[in-house]
Amino acid sequence: MNASSRGKGRWWRPRSLRTQLLLWLITLHLGAAVLTAWFSFVAYGNLVHNALDDQMRLVAESYAGSDPQKLPRPMDGEAAFSRGAFIVQIWSPDGGTLRATSWPVLTVPLQPQPGFSDVNTGTHAGSAWRVFTAEHGSRADQPRVQVLQNEDYRRRRALRRALLEGLPITLLLPLALLILWIIVSAASRSLRAVARDVASQDERSPTELSLARVPDEIAPLVSAFNNLLSRVRSAFATQRRFVQDAAHELRTPMAAIGLQIENLRAHVPAGEATERFNQLEAGVTRAQHLIEQLLHLSRQDAPRAGNANERVDIEVLLRDSVSQLMVLADARRVDVGFEGSIAAVVVAPAAELRSVFDNLIDNALRYAPEGGVVDVKLHKVEGHAVVDVLDNGPGIPKEAIDRVFDRFFRVPGAAAGGSGLGLAIARTAAERHGLRIELRNRTDGPGLMARVHLPASAA
Ligand code: ADP
Repeated sequence: MNASSRGKGRWWRPRSLRTQLLLWLITLHLGAAVLTAWFSFVAYGNLVHNALDDQMRLVAESYAGSDPQKLPRPMDGEAAFSRGAFIVQIWSPDGGTLRATSWPVLTVPLQPQPGFSDVNTGTHAGSAWRVFTAEHGSRADQPRVQVLQNEDYRRRRALRRALLEGLPITLLLPLALLILWIIVSAASRSLRAVARDVASQDERSPTELSLARVPDEIAPLVSAFNNLLSRVRSAFATQRRFVQDAAHELRTPMAAIGLQIENLRAHVPAGEATERFNQLEAGVTRAQHLIEQLLHLSRQDAPRAGNANERVDIEVLLRDSVSQLMVLADARRVDVGFEGSIAAVVVAPAAELRSVFDNLIDNALRYAPEGGVVDVKLHKVEGHAVVDVLDNGPGIPKEAIDRVFDRFFRVPGAAAGGSGLGLAIARTAAERHGLRIELRNRTDGPGLMARVHLPASAA
């Protein structure tokens, strides 16, 4: 899937699985709730109607069969509309005259067909009536009875009953959705945890992702990823071993060539031959330097080693580094100065810290002009401990300053003798132990300032 089609997505199919799941489940739940409400309304409506019809029939029969004739108790409209009271009409046996009624205001004639019917007395609300007309009695003089009930009242009662029955579902719905939300969120949380695990991997020594809290459905994916990681790990190891072995194998013959060249010097005739000989010697020295840097690089790429809890006094370390590089300084007649105005301690393997400062001071000595000046300063800048390595060489062109940390990158036209690996090695070691290297061309004259910011805990 390319970036543009990933970005768009269709409105009806969101890219988030969680949103998709929730949208579908909410729609299904709401659909189910509406259907259930409708069914329960119809079912309970019928139930209430049938029960009320039965009551009407019983009342009508009790009046029709009474001897002497029972007369209906008078009532008012309020009872008919809000309490649904039955209105009883007693008609003459031929159905022509209304003899008695519980509410004379209501003028519904005796229905020709016995049984249940629906009658409307107008178009306003409350004008629909349910009517039960009792059958002719067995005696000819037996009066006819008709019972009426307000239809609106019956509908309200059915609705109330249906609502009451639907209440548990209505309450359960948000609760079910909340539980769904929690379950889906938990699942996506575990996915995010896996992603965090992957993101925090050390690219040099990736470790297996834990399957402990991964849902069953995602476990195969994580296992496959672990498999891939282990292959990446072994590929890294193979590559590292190759560089290490190659550099190692080259070191001994190169050292032998170096010795041979040194022995040969006395026998080289003066003149052009000496000049060629010097070039040869410089070439061998460069090759030896490259081999050393490659060895260093492959060791650095190996999973972390060394005593990480070592407390290293930076001043002592810098003095050691400067004095070891004095040979190079002397060879190039560079004046090296060290100035330490604060005490600083960094907790890290000393060898790794040495590789940071050795590479920076080595560069300063190599790129400073013959007879130049290099200063190493341990001091505080804006309250933070820093080490500055200053030289008066050509500096680095602005456009190359970000690239000089890349492996094998050399500024075009830079002095011969380098491998392009020194700054890459220095930066990797620095970043591992909370140090930061900043390169800046000097503003007070020609040259480069390499500033190492020590961790806040150093001073
Ligand atoms: P190299 O072995 O070539 O010095 P580095 O990684 O140490 O490799 O440096 C990369 C490049 O950065 C060098 O080739 C050089 O062009 C430039 N550089 C590094 N330090 C300095 C410096 N002090 N002055 C000028 N250029 C520098």
